[in-house]
Amino acid sequence: MKTPIELDRYSCNWIGGERVQGMAAMEVENPATGRTIARVPDLEDEAVDRAIESAGQAFDSWSRLPAGVRAGYLNEWAQRLLDHSEELASLLTLEQGKPLVESRGEIAGAAAIIRWYAEEGKRAYGEIIPASNEGQQLLVYREAAGVVGLITPMNFPAATVARKVAPALAASFTLVLKPAETTPLTAIALFDHLMATGIPAGAANLVTGEAARIGARLMAHPAIRKISFTGSTRIGKLLMEQAARTVKKVSLELGGNSPVIVFPDADPEKAAADIAANKFENCGQVCNGINRIYVHEDIRDAFVAALLSRVRRLRTGPGLSEGADVGPLISGAALAKVERLVGDAVAKGGELLAGGRRLQGEPYADGYFYAPTLIAGVTGEMDIAHEEIFGPVAPVLTFRTEEEVVAAANDTAYGLATYVYTQNFARIHRMIRVLKTGNIGVNGTSLAYPQAPFGGVKESGIGREGGRQGLEEYTVLKYVALTTE
Ligand code: ADP
Repeated sequence: MKTPIELDRYSCNWIGGERVQGMAAMEVENPATGRTIARVPDLEDEAVDRAIESAGQAFDSWSRLPAGVRAGYLNEWAQRLLDHSEELASLLTLEQGKPLVESRGEIAGAAAIIRWYAEEGKRAYGEIIPASNEGQQLLVYREAAGVVGLITPMNFPAATVARKVAPALAASFTLVLKPAETTPLTAIALFDHLMATGIPAGAANLVTGEAARIGARLMAHPAIRKISFTGSTRIGKLLMEQAARTVKKVSLELGGNSPVIVFPDADPEKAAADIAANKFENCGQVCNGINRIYVHEDIRDAFVAALLSRVRRLRTGPGLSEGADVGPLISGAALAKVERLVGDAVAKGGELLAGGRRLQGEPYADGYFYAPTLIAGVTGEMDIAHEEIFGPVAPVLTFRTEEEVVAAANDTAYGLATYVYTQNFARIHRMIRVLKTGNIGVNGTSLAYPQAPFGGVKESGIGREGGRQGLEEYTVLKYVALTTE
């Protein structure tokens, strides 16, 4: 396939408003072919420190700007992303694999998030509290605390950058972003556009390179007052430990093991359509993607038949090819994990109804393609019921009572998203109360909106992204007892 864009353009980082090359480079691969498509800097420690210091120097002037001026830069950034949407979407697909139509949606979504936070930054209100003494005022200021380190994952290389950079800048933090090693090109392209708005030098810095080394550098530096991370629970725990040494504030959006419960009064066709859309988006690599499908025995057959017909209709192919619904996984390691989980489920009696194998031969070449898979008869003994799959595999379990299914749904160290399908109003209310999760979808599986506070409980994370609450993550309170008489 002809590469539609000039990839050498995306080989630099941004530090202090300048383009920066590294001494060493890191390769970026196209997961649809397994081939190297670009090289980006593997930045040395000294350069990472420089990025942090640039952000530190820019902080005073950036935070003193009127919110409306900061909003101006953000709105121009959003507009530039929309104006260059086709090129950005192709780049995103090239390094990440998802179908072009999804990449286009992600770029539009990123622009929407940036615009929303441009406006919300104008509403970072403080408070005046009635005082205890005459001649006194108790004031609460809401302000930024300095430099934030942002670490983003590979599954939404544009949206996750927007969801962190936009509220951070709107709340007047300055920042250093480290994108995922597998998908740095989209972040670089996004930063090229951010810099083109004329944003003051050093307000936003971008560093790429070996994750553990750069991460450790960010975590150790005392000027970084906050870390916002989206990724695995394993790395989130490590960052929390590292943050303790300089008492950084942390916001963590981590893994999940999200269940959906389909009650007997649900419409099996509608549930199957929504669940397939959620499950196979981005080849199953979505943090609030469904991991366990609990369906009531009474509608099990109708539901499985509806889901199976949807799975069979999915077309797998390179994301840039016409009509692909599902692209490749991000890497050989991701593919191996999915193979292991499906192998374990089948060995323990799971009923493979579709897929269950790696795709080979043309047009799959050396890419990381796995056939959309449906396994019924899944039980709690199988690894797939406990581990985050992050792949195009739908495991179906059955249940008989509400009590039993709630216990099973909650029986996980994670608590990101849970979905419920039922028409029973009282049951909806009960579910909202008893499910131990940060986000619930009732009769729908879409959750991420700019204005909504998304985030996890238990080992799925700390803090929220999106909404007013997502802006508050980037503010600290300064309380002033002011005596005037
Ligand atoms: P995933 O499994 O979704 O790729 P990871 O937690 O491995 O999730 O990666 C999410 C982000 O964390 C990426 O930007 C990755 O480069 C980064 N990362 C990985 N290891 C570390 C680490 N030791 N310190 C800091 N960041 C890391």
